[in-house]
Amino acid sequence: MSMGSSTRVSQAKASGQSLKNGRTVQYEFMGPPGAVAIILGLPILMLCLTTFCEENTGCVHLRAQPPFFEIPLPAGAGSLTDSLLASVGSFHPKAAGVYLAWMSYQVLMHLVLPGRWVTGTKLPDGSPALDYKLTARLNFIVTLSLVFILSFKFDVLDLGWVYRNYIPLMISSFAFAAALSLYLYASSFRRGALLAAGGNTGNAVYDFFIGRELNPRVGRFFDSKQFCELQPGLIGWVVVNAACLHHQWRTLGRVTNSMALVFLFQGIYVLDALWFEKAILSTMDITTDGFGFMLAFGDLSWVPFVYALQARFLAATPIDLDFVSAAGIVALKVIGYWAFRGSNLQKDRFRTNPNHPAVAHLKTMPTARGTKLIISGWWGIARHINYTADWLMSLAWALPCGLSSPVPYFHPIYFAILLIHRDGRDYHACSLKYGKDWERYCKAVPYSLIPSIY
Ligand code: NDP
Repeated sequence: MSMGSSTRVSQAKASGQSLKNGRTVQYEFMGPPGAVAIILGLPILMLCLTTFCEENTGCVHLRAQPPFFEIPLPAGAGSLTDSLLASVGSFHPKAAGVYLAWMSYQVLMHLVLPGRWVTGTKLPDGSPALDYKLTARLNFIVTLSLVFILSFKFDVLDLGWVYRNYIPLMISSFAFAAALSLYLYASSFRRGALLAAGGNTGNAVYDFFIGRELNPRVGRFFDSKQFCELQPGLIGWVVVNAACLHHQWRTLGRVTNSMALVFLFQGIYVLDALWFEKAILSTMDITTDGFGFMLAFGDLSWVPFVYALQARFLAATPIDLDFVSAAGIVALKVIGYWAFRGSNLQKDRFRTNPNHPAVAHLKTMPTARGTKLIISGWWGIARHINYTADWLMSLAWALPCGLSSPVPYFHPIYFAILLIHRDGRDYHACSLKYGKDWERYCKAVPYSLIPSIY
């Protein structure tokens, strides 16, 4: 799981599939200036989001009156820059130590937990596919059980500390992601490294950002990209949520239904991703994108600390939902999850075994490329009904926070932009893959995300 951006870049020689480490000739994200803006801008954005949604100052609240364009700082906050500098100044070395301990614990779990070995997809240079150890699901179950038993039952783990040190921990994650990306960039120059098609422009800043090496490994078997995509960030997100829930439980003496919903919804989302962890091996992030700042920052900083904003908001602003609102939100999440899991499973089953009884009845369209496209069932409703479903779930995470602040809605807004952009990129990639057949398919299934609308 990433910030959602990845790269698809043509190489100097179009026969690139069998060409090892060709030079990338096309930039994404507006090239090096875009890369610099993202590298500097995302940490600042995250500092803004967390600084203006916290215990002491409360949260940014919507203005009922103009001027809407002013940043509506919470009561008690100083100027924008003063507050941000105070956030940065709250960093202390203990937070870095705790963050490093968390990363070391995650590495240890990946190494010692038993896990199935599976083979990934073919490598672009034609060399044999790599083997991957799957431990994320078990790691999630073990880690969350330990966290709950040690903090809620025996009170020996101070989860509240994590909530109180959200910003210092987040800053530590920035430093870790930056250091890891530097290491990845430097080590990609060693002899024999297989580079990502989009990460070898020769511009150091851009390649550092987008990711130069395709599958960096420590030894033969520790795949750092697969590990970071699934374990420290996703599991870390649920642990940060647990810290926010713990804080509310300690200060309020109970957990509000809104907090319980956000915790459960997001916990189920992560567990689902880890339950089907093998599926990550065929995603663009693993098969195509290099491992650099974009994925490292997305996995280790963005996911745990931006995705946990709703729980953080509710820890500082407890909300009790009435029965009808809670039931409506649960219904939205259930519909979203049903469509998300149903559509993704339908396509995965069809691609793995089209004769599977669950998919054998589907109407399909043959293509010159040899692979068929489904035109009924979930995939007959819209070409990316799985994205729409994913977005509905993200809305269901924000609604428990009420409508008083825009901060909890940052995720569904950003996610909508990401999914629309990703839909456009996949459309482009499929037009290249399927040619005229893709045009025929788009006539059969004319809408991208919302039937009859878009
Ligand atoms: P998809 O799972 O939609 O995969 C797209 C590919 O599926 C196409 O390139 C094509 O490849 C194949 N395909 C498209 N239409 C059909 C069809 N009708 N029949 C059969 N095959 C078809 O995209 P993603 O990998 O981007 O997303 C997977 C999930 O991950 C989604 O639910 C998405 O919401 C979620 N996601 C979540 C993110 C997050 O940050 N939370 C970020 C990104 C994604 P081919 O024909 O070659 O098989």
